[in-house]
Amino acid sequence: MSGLKTDDSAEMRDRREEIAAALEDYPQLRNYFTNVTNPIATDGDPIRLIGQAKTNPIVAKGLTVFNIMASTCEAEIDRLNGLLRQAEQHRKTIEKALTMALSKTDRDEAIPIKHPEAFTGDSNDLAKRTEEFKHWRQRVLSIWIDYPRKFRTERQKLTYFLTVLGGSALRSISKRLEDIIKHPDDSEQWAWDTAEEVIIELAKQYETFDEKTDALKKITDLKQEDEYADYDRFVAYFTNLATTLEWDDKTKAMQFELRLCSKLKKAIESRDDMPDDDDFDGWVEKCRKITNRQATAAALGKMSQGFKAKAPANGNNDAGKKDKNKGGDPMDLDAMKLAIARLPQEVLNHRYQNGLCLNCGNPDHYAKNCKKKANNGGSGRGSARLLKND
Ligand SMILES: [Zn+2]
Repeated sequence: MSGLKTDDSAEMRDRREEIAAALEDYPQLRNYFTNVTNPIATDGDPIRLIGQAKTNPIVAKGLTVFNIMASTCEAEIDRLNGLLRQAEQHRKTIEKALTMALSKTDRDEAIPIKHPEAFTGDSNDLAKRTEEFKHWRQRVLSIWIDYPRKFRTERQKLTYFLTVLGGSALRSISKRLEDIIKHPDDSEQWAWDTAEEVIIELAKQYETFDEKTDALKKITDLKQEDEYADYDRFVAYFTNLATTLEWDDKTKAMQFELRLCSKLKKAIESRDDMPDDDDFDGWVEKCRKITNRQATAAALGKMSQGFKAKAPANGNNDAGKKDKNKGGDPMDLDAMKLAIARLPQEVLNHRYQNGLCLNCGNPDHYAKNCKKKANNGGSGRGSARLLKND
């Protein structure tokens, strides 16, 4: 076959274009060689072979078969290209979703955590310290929930205590926190399995304040004197503490009596008409009446003193020729006392405490100098009460 060869055909070079041109009767094969990307380095033999197809049916048959195969391949390539495009669409969708997720992450991470003020446990005020701890605990737990990416692991939560603890509270666990920092990946070396355990441990130490213990201490120290000398204020404070302690009425009545001022205690001792042991409300009301009567007696007593002290100054024994501007007759005084005792307790207290005339309420004089006649027009209830000393 060497006779068929030419110098040209023996030369080895890229013959993609020549092969494609020779395949004009076989469009799929031609298409294949037109689009093939890699060089086809060959001599002229393939082109001569293609040329024989016009006269050699075997060669023609072979090329027809190859053409069909190329057609099939092309369809397959189209199918694969279609899949490739779909895959590319999926890739873009995923990429977009990922970009969005990442940018959202960035935004969340960009919001700075507002850490709670470090809890030190150094306050000596137990009630205040307990309040501080409770608030701190709630803040820490909510931060763990609000920033799940920053607190994914127990280690991250545990080392967070270094940020939000100080003083003696931090000192009590700092050695064990150090072990976690030294062995971040070996939880076997840690003192706690979870960060919650630390909170529980701290709670045992700092959430100790008990309202009842506090109330018991306060009620133990309570006496009806100083800032609680005022009866209503004393009753309100005592009742408040006793309610916290969940005392029953009998206990309340007993403990109430123990804490009354000595003057009131003394008055009760001489009485046999006090309410039952378990009638706390009755005791409060009875003692209020006695207190009011003591206040009335004090006011009237002061009035009598003033009258007696002033009377000798008039320098005469003639009660009939009394000077109304300077003093009063003992008979007038008794009438006036009865009138004053008939006044509503609040009115009397107000006049007594503000230095007003007990008889008429005038600020310019005291009752011993009052020109206004004792008014006996009342119901008589007040005077009856006074006389019976009830
Ligand atoms: Zn008056």
